Amino acid sequence: MKKSYILGNWKANKTIEEAKEWQVTYMANVPKVSESVEVIVCPAFHHLPLFLEQTQPFALGAQDISMYENGADTGEVTGAMMKGIVRYVMIGHSERRAHFGETNDVVVQKVKRALSLGIIPVVCVSDIKQVAFLHESILNFGESGLLLYEPLSAIGSGVSDSPENTNETAKKIHEIIPSIPILYGGSVTPENVHGFIEQPHLSGVGVGGASLDPMKFSKLVTASSS
Ligand code: PEP
Repeated sequence: MKKSYILGNWKANKTIEEAKEWQVTYMANVPKVSESVEVIVCPAFHHLPLFLEQTQPFALGAQDISMYENGADTGEVTGAMMKGIVRYVMIGHSERRAHFGETNDVVVQKVKRALSLGIIPVVCVSDIKQVAFLHESILNFGESGLLLYEPLSAIGSGVSDSPENTNETAKKIHEIIPSIPILYGGSVTPENVHGFIEQPHLSGVGVGGASLDPMKFSKLVTASSS
C-alpha cells in the first residue's frame, strides 16, 4: 500500500494554553488510521516542548529552520537545535517566500542543512520552475525529502484546486523528480481530502486552517484513509 502523509501546518497561531487545549481534544479523539498513513503536526517552535512531554500519535515537524549553523544570528532557530526534536521540517512555504523574501537559493541552503542533520525536508513549491531548481541543485533530492505542492490561489482561500488538476501537475513533477512523494496543499478539508489522497501521483496533503481545530483535523485524518 502506498504510504501517505497528512501534514498539519499551524503557521503563526496559538498560545501555549491554546496548544494544550488542542492536544487534550486531539488525544481524546485520536483518529484510527492504517499504518500506511503518517500524520505530521508542525506547530510553532514554542509549542514543541509541550509535545515532547508524552508520546504523540503523530510525528513533529518544524515550520522552518535557519540556513545557517549555530552562531551570531539573533532570532534564528537552527537545524542543529531542532535535531532530535522534529522528524520533519517545512522549507520554502509560499508565505516565507512572499513575506520574508526567501529565494530558491535560500530554500536549497536550508534543504541541504536539514539533510545533513537527518531531518526530512518537506519542500513547499507552487510551480514547476521551483521544482526544476530544486532538482538541479540537490542531487538525489527525490530519495530524501517530500514535496508539498501548493498553488497560491488555493492557500487559505477556501477554494481548493481540483484533485484531477493537481494530479496532472504532480505527474509533471514526477517527470522531473520521479520518486518524490508529492503532497497537495490548499484549502483541504475533511470533505475534500479523500479526492486528493486517491490520486495516483499524490501521496498526501498539507493542511493549514483545518489543522487548527483538533476535531476537524481528527476528522480529516480519518477521512483520508476511509
Ligand atoms: C498552507 O498554507 O500550507 C495551507 C495548506 O493552508 P490552508 O489549508 O489554510 O489553505
